[in-house]
Formats: sequence, structure tokens, C-alpha cells
Amino acid sequence: MSLFKDIIVPELNLTYNQPLGLFINNEFVKSSDDATIETSNPSTGEPIAKFYAASHKDIDNAVKAARLAYQETWSKTTPADRGILLSKLYDLINEHKDVIAAIDSIDSGKPYHTNALGDLEQILELTRYFSGASDKYVKGQYIPVNNDKYALVVREPFGVVAQIVPWNYPAAMASWKIQGCLAAGNCIVIKPAENTSLSLLYMAQLFKKAGFPPGVLNVVPGYGNIAGSALAEHMDIDKIAFTGSTAVGKKIMSMAALSNLKNVTLECGGKSPAVVFKDSNLDEAVKWISMGIFYNSGQNCTANSRILVENSVYDVFIKKFVKYVAENWNISPNIFDKNCQVGPVVSKVQYDRVIGYVNEGKKTLNYKCLNNPETVNECSKRGYFIPPTIFLDVPSTSKLFQEEIFGPVGVITKFSNYDEAVSLANDTSYGLAAAVFSENVRVINQFAKDVRAGTVWCNSSNEEEVSCPFGGYKMSGIGRELGESGMDAYMETKCIHMNISNL
Ligand code: NAD
Repeated sequence: MSLFKDIIVPELNLTYNQPLGLFINNEFVKSSDDATIETSNPSTGEPIAKFYAASHKDIDNAVKAARLAYQETWSKTTPADRGILLSKLYDLINEHKDVIAAIDSIDSGKPYHTNALGDLEQILELTRYFSGASDKYVKGQYIPVNNDKYALVVREPFGVVAQIVPWNYPAAMASWKIQGCLAAGNCIVIKPAENTSLSLLYMAQLFKKAGFPPGVLNVVPGYGNIAGSALAEHMDIDKIAFTGSTAVGKKIMSMAALSNLKNVTLECGGKSPAVVFKDSNLDEAVKWISMGIFYNSGQNCTANSRILVENSVYDVFIKKFVKYVAENWNISPNIFDKNCQVGPVVSKVQYDRVIGYVNEGKKTLNYKCLNNPETVNECSKRGYFIPPTIFLDVPSTSKLFQEEIFGPVGVITKFSNYDEAVSLANDTSYGLAAAVFSENVRVINQFAKDVRAGTVWCNSSNEEEVSCPFGGYKMSGIGRELGESGMDAYMETKCIHMNISNL
């Protein structure tokens, strides 16, 4: 199989050249055992391309390339040098953003105009951010221990870092990890998800063009249980950063512990509450919460998948919510349509998983499908489309209330007072994010303190900012990404003790 293929996206009148190999040492290469993975377009079910899948041996080659690059070139660069390279990368991503967005649309089913292009804006923002942060966040400390001694605390890159990312924001999740890690001075071996590897392979060329030396960024598509576990178990990787499900996160941590005790960061699942108090601006709450649960077809780790509404405004909230979603969250079989807000879910596996929850809920719960049945019917004949759906009066004991569905399915539950709202919000093993709606600043403040979550949005939802730390409490993960933490997570701390006693 060839290492490149011309791919046509007729809806955009676009033809581009897609790399299909593993990206090691700034070159695309075949896998050592010729293994490949085929990827298809979830909005049509049609195949797009086959690309090479890394074996254990390939992972080892990529790690060797990263180690050599770290020793020979990358560890000798200054933070300012790295910032300049990231700024060149910014220009290249900007130049190619329409193509990268198109790739993520066909490969993951993201609506092009209302979603995929937005991901690219965020990638640009964070590339600009880390290009500037590169020579500003590496800070140390001077400790005057006593008259005979002082200590210097210095930060150093780990060296070789492995990263594993999921399929819901293919190019963006990779960029959340790569840019800060490179700014901090590490070399990387990154594995994209097996069903959405195309955009990162395309972007790999831009790192080379920007001037990143060979071996600094290596991209190794492949299966989780082969390439992913080879990374987690590798004896010459200093740190692993993972985004994906809690179940796989636990495996990564255990493999890291049982191999060389490499440092671990985990960004895992969520079941985030959105809490609507009776004095909130309901129109605003409806707008934010519908985005929080239906954007990206609900495939968001921070999705507002549990919507908690105070008794006295419950009925009016539901009425407004149903009307707003029907008018603003259109499902469309054409993901390049400017009015398509809801595309398919990413794959047949994900479709079956989400529909399993919907069917389970339908047995006992009251539910509403919020889109025109004819359009829904037309979409489901083409690809893996699931319309925005809500379940009403869902008890906290329900599987739908407790488990991460990861599709456009919201569960709505009533509460009668502040204490019950907090208790329901915290009634989950996850703790990634929460949203709260109220016009009373004291209620908002108290809730922000009482909820056990890494991010709290007050009168908004699902608005990540590249300058703010992001990560989870409880089983939503360990560590933080983005902002200052986006570099901090990729640096070791060394303490140098200086004996200055008189001879
Ligand atoms: P997943 O855990 O199945 O896969 C994620 C990645 O791990 C993929 O690249 C996969 O190939 C790899 N993997 C799978 N098995 C592996 C193994 N045994 N060893 C090593 N690697 C392995 O998750 P997914 O279904 O791709 O993504 C959805 C999940 O990701 C959801 O739970 C979602 O909440 C979570 N997520 C979290 C965040 C966050 O920042 N907290 C962001 C996006 C998605």
C-alpha cells in the first residue's frame, strides 16, 4: 500500500493528499508487519482510506527516535527557540485549517461549519498561547535554607513523553497535549484513536515544515491494545498522558506502574451536572445547556448529561428547552450543510452503545426525541445519526443518570432545594465539570465551592479556555491540561542544595 492517497471532499470542492504511514523521525513509513486500519465516514458509512497501524516494534522505533532527538537536539534548545517554532506552526495550521477541519468532518462526522472549523480556531488559540508561554512558564525558586546553605528548585522536561488521545476531537485533543509538552521541552510519541487518525497524520507534516527536528514529534496510529499498551508499558518512556475512558485510564495507570513507574496524567470520562435554580434566567440556561449536551453529538467528556432543575420552574424549563432545541439543533444528513448542528456519532460501535442506553431508558422512562421525525428517518438511512433526545424525571438510581452515555442524550431530574441540588450534582463517581444557573451570586458562589468538579461554569457551560487549567476530580482523572498546567504537567522538579558554609 502506498504512503499517500489523494482524497476528494466534493462538498468543499477539495482534493488533498493524505499521508497514510507512521510518522517517525519526520518521515512517513510503513508499519513493520504491514498492518493497516480502514477508516470510514460515519455520516455515509463509506470507506475513506486505509492507514498503517503500529506494531510493538514500530513503537520501539518511535521511542528510540524520540530519545535520540531529545539527547542530540531538543534538550539543547532554549524555551525561546521552541516558542519560535510553535509560532511558525501557528502560521502553517492557519494556512491549512480548512483542510484539517474537512478531514475531521469526514473522519469523525463533525458538522464542518458549526463544529470542525471551531475546533481549528481553538487549536490556533492554544498554539499561539504555548508559543508565547514557552519562555515564560519555566520558573524556579530560591530557598535560603540557613546561613550555610541555599537551595534552587528548577524545572526540567521529562524527556520522552507518550500521549494517547480519543476520537471525539481528533485534531484538538492531540493539540491540547502536544503544544504544551513541546513548549516544556519534551519529545513525543503520540497515538491517535484508531478510527480518527487522519487529521493528526496530516498535521504531522506541518511540524516538519515548521522546523521541528526529526524525532521530536512522532505519530503512531494503531490499536489501543497493541500500540497503546506498548506505549504504556515501555521502559524508556518517562511520562504518559492519556485522554479517554476511565476504564482504559485505569489500565494505563496500572501498566505504567508495573513497567517503569512512569509519570501519569489522565483525562477521563464525566457525567457533568447542569443545575438550574428557580431564579435563573431560563432562556439563557436553555441556550447554554442545549449546547452543553448536544454539541459534537453529545460526545463531550464535559457534556451536561445530567440536567437538574428546581421543582417550581421544571415545567416551564422543559417547554422552553424542547422548543429551543427543535429550532436550533438541527440534525442533517449533510454534515457540510451550514445548518447542520448535529451530525452522526463517530462509529457503529458508538451508535450501538448510545442506542442501547436509549432503548434501556424507553422501557421505564418518559422521553422526547427533539427533531423532526422525517429528517431523523432520512439521516438514519445514511449513517450513524442519533437525534437530540431527553429523558424526563430520571431517578438518580437509573443507569442513565449514573453512566456516561457519550451521545446526544440528556437526562433531566427535579430537585426541591439547594441541599438536594448539591447532593444530586455530587451523586456520581465522576467529577470533571459542572454548570450552575442562578441570578443570586451567593447561591452561585456556594455551589461552586460545594460541587466536586475540576471546572465549574457559572451561568454558562462547556466553554473551555486555553489559558485555564482543565481536568477532573474523582474518577474523571489525574492532573490538569491547558494554561500554565499545560506545561507544568510535562516538567519534573529538581532541587539543588548548595553548601556555602565557611571552610
Ligand atoms: P477509549 O478509552 O476507548 O480510547 C481512548 C484512546 O485509548 C484511544 O486512542 C484508544 O486506542 C486507546 N486505548 C484503548 N485501549 C487501550 C489500551 N488497552 N491500552 C492503551 N491504549 C488504549 O476512549 P474513547 O472511546 O476513544 O473516547 C471516549 C472517552 O474519552 C469518554 O469516556 C470521554 O469522556 C473521554 N474523554 C475525556 C476527555 C477529558 O479531557 N477528560 C476528553 C475527551 C474524551
